[in-house]
Amino acid sequence: MKKPIRMLYDCSKCPAWCCTYPNIFVTQRDIERIAKHLNMSVEEAKGKFTRMSEDYNKPIMRHKKDKYFDTACRFLDQKTRRCTIYEARPHGCRTYPGGRCGYWEFLKIERDRQEEPDATVTTDHRA
Ligand code: SF4
Ligand code: SF4
Repeated sequence: MKKPIRMLYDCSKCPAWCCTYPNIFVTQRDIERIAKHLNMSVEEAKGKFTRMSEDYNKPIMRHKKDKYFDTACRFLDQKTRRCTIYEARPHGCRTYPGGRCGYWEFLKIERDRQEEPDATVTTDHRA
């Protein structure tokens, strides 16, 4: 039997840094799933929620202004820091980050150091 992956991070206590990543890739299948979930046409969903990445020339999620970081995926709820299309989120969002999350580890160290269990720590995606 396949061993379950041990999660070494807790997304419920994180301000969703990964949803602020500039290039969140979206496949045609992802767009179709999102369109179905939101009851709209694929073309409409594609135009409204995605754009071409200047860095990779591939479709990525559109962003909006974010409360903590510069910008975030437009489907991130600013209050709850949760995905508003969770059941229909792109494949990349489902598989990220695998077994470990570097940001979570950084956040935990900073929260311990600052003795602030809810601190939000920023970091530069492009660094
Ligand atoms: S940055 Fe890491 S801990 Fe935070 S929501 Fe994303 S995967 Fe979860
Ligand atoms: S689709 Fe949802 S999980 Fe994916 S980046 Fe946007 S808010 Fe985060």
